[in-house]
Amino acid sequence: TLPRLGFIGMGNMGGPMAANLVAAGYTVTGYDPVPAAAERAAAAGVRMAGTGAEAVAQADVVITMLPTGRHVLNALSGDGDTPGLLAAADGDTLFLECSTISVDDATTAHALMLETGHRGLDAPVSGGVVGAEAGTLTFMVGGAAEDFAAALPVLEVMGGRVVHCGGPGAGQAAKICNNMILGVSMIAVSEAFVLGEELGLSHQALFDVASAASGQCWALTTNCPVPGPVPASPANRDYRPGFAAALMAKDLGLAADALDSTGVSAELGRRAGEIYRNLTESGGGGEDFSAIINTIRANSTQ
Ligand code: NAD
Repeated sequence: TLPRLGFIGMGNMGGPMAANLVAAGYTVTGYDPVPAAAERAAAAGVRMAGTGAEAVAQADVVITMLPTGRHVLNALSGDGDTPGLLAAADGDTLFLECSTISVDDATTAHALMLETGHRGLDAPVSGGVVGAEAGTLTFMVGGAAEDFAAALPVLEVMGGRVVHCGGPGAGQAAKICNNMILGVSMIAVSEAFVLGEELGLSHQALFDVASAASGQCWALTTNCPVPGPVPASPANRDYRPGFAAALMAKDLGLAADALDSTGVSAELGRRAGEIYRNLTESGGGGEDFSAIINTIRANSTQ
């Protein structure tokens, strides 16, 4: 028989992830304090509870998909009058923490799970809302091998690729390291296109060379920041995301926390975080992160 699932946080990601679990035959009991999110989930067949504690009380596996580390730790431990999920769940519940949070918060959450007699994995995702709807997310998982094995059938419903990255926190570590590569490489590609424009080089010519040469990367060949060479990239639809600049700024903030706590020198990773944060603070947070090319043009002198 399939494990009974509790699902906490039915937002842009959690809503469609839970809907895919229902469609695969799982009984999913969910909770979200925002009525619109709760109604959407109920319409997809999720049994909506009145509190998080009620949603997890009968569950064998609990999935959390919340905005930030603070939300996750508050939900697990309880907050003021709100009872925590860890106290409300039966013993030996498997927690799959899928939000993007810091490595430190992920390892804290993992320790709390073990202290309260449960098991847990950090299992952040990439692939965005499109991947959540299609069930093709990539899961990056940290925790014990036997817990990974137990979680795999559930994760495979929501994901197309599930990678066991190591012990507690390793999933979040993989997520922020990958996104640090992505954040820096998108800025590099955008700077090169703007320089090419000023040097009289067409977008297509630069694309044709770099996409088959040593400048090749995902930011160029899949999410190309200029319209034309890659018809499906957000640049062709006025930079509608895609992957919003605000989320990139958030993830690079988590990378900066990890750089601070490890003492690693990463000038470009840190600077990239500032650049997307400036874009977000000046009102561009809802645009695809490739819209950073417009900032580079605007900051150029001619
Ligand atoms: P979202 O804001 O749309 O959804 C979060 C939901 O959590 C909201 O509906 C909110 O009401 C709910 N919530 C808050 N506190 C709660 C609580 N105590 N109990 C139950 N529900 C609660 O965010 P999202 O886009 O779904 O993202 C969720 C996480 O996934 C974030 O950490 C984000 O960084 C990460 N992520 C998002 C994307 C993306 O493209 N949206 C991609 C990869 C990873």
